[in-house]
Amino acid sequence: MFSLIIPVYNEEDLIDELAERAINAVESFTSNYEILFVNDGSTDSTLRKLIEVRKRFSRVKIVDLSRNFGHQAAFTAGLEMAMGNYVAMMDGDLQDPPELLAEMFRMINDEGFDIVTGKRKGRKTKRHRIATNLFHVFFKKVAGLVEVENAGNFSMLNRSAVDALVKMKESIRYLPGLRSFIGFNQGFVEYIREDRAGGEPKMTFGKLVLLGADAIFSFSKFPIKVCLVLGMIGTLVFLFAGIYVLVAKSFGFALIGWSSTVLSIYFLGSIQLIFLGVVGEYVYRIYKESQNRPIYLVKKFYDTETE
Ligand code: UDP
Ligand code: MG
Repeated sequence: MFSLIIPVYNEEDLIDELAERAINAVESFTSNYEILFVNDGSTDSTLRKLIEVRKRFSRVKIVDLSRNFGHQAAFTAGLEMAMGNYVAMMDGDLQDPPELLAEMFRMINDEGFDIVTGKRKGRKTKRHRIATNLFHVFFKKVAGLVEVENAGNFSMLNRSAVDALVKMKESIRYLPGLRSFIGFNQGFVEYIREDRAGGEPKMTFGKLVLLGADAIFSFSKFPIKVCLVLGMIGTLVFLFAGIYVLVAKSFGFALIGWSSTVLSIYFLGSIQLIFLGVVGEYVYRIYKESQNRPIYLVKKFYDTETE
């Protein structure tokens, strides 16, 4: 059995086209499948449209979350509920071409990969392109994970890789990072990321920055290192300044130095605030994880039995 997970949040304009293309693409390589739409608390007619689709295609299932949990949580819900021996994750705005799934499926079956990821070799969208590319290069450097550069959620995994991913219980989640972290035999297919087929992007620039911060704070010590290095440089500078002052005093120069005093107070003060912010970020993350709350909550699961 093959499972395709698609999170959707207020995508009413796209559901029909999305379902049709996804079903056609999947049926090109298997007839034993389920398509799990995870409705991430949509406030428009997305759920109604999905229920309509389900009437025509019984292999379509809907996981209706109790509110908007964010798309990493929505994918997680799908991963935990998918029953397939092969599971794919795909965005619901057709930026990831469903037609690529056949190639991923072939690579897992014939070439012995456990995970096949879509690697973006180009983007049609201008939106946030520079920022996204910079993030991926930087993240690869600081996290030191193999080959996560320019890979998003679009991917297919076999059962053992899915089970490994589902074991990662942290509530602050960055799935592309976790997917690299678990290891296994990972392969790639390159593709050009399309423009959204319609509707507005649901990940605003702000949400993307927060996701990027989650990635960096969860997968690297980079922020701590920056603090330490800056702290050490600061200490050295002030050590030398101190020696200079002592020497100058003993040779009898008069010290006027109002501006140097005030500037160094400002400088030290602001550095300390930044460091406190970084420490706060870690404390917040420890707090979040220790609460141990569920990553998502399901209002209703529309699978084959229930209606
Ligand atoms: N999405 C979601 N919950 C959210 C935000 C987005 O389920 O809170 C879904 C959205 O419907 C889409 C996918 O996640 O299917 C990717 O969202 P989007 O296209 O806005 O992200 P981007 O392509 O800009 O990264
Ligand atoms: Mg998109």
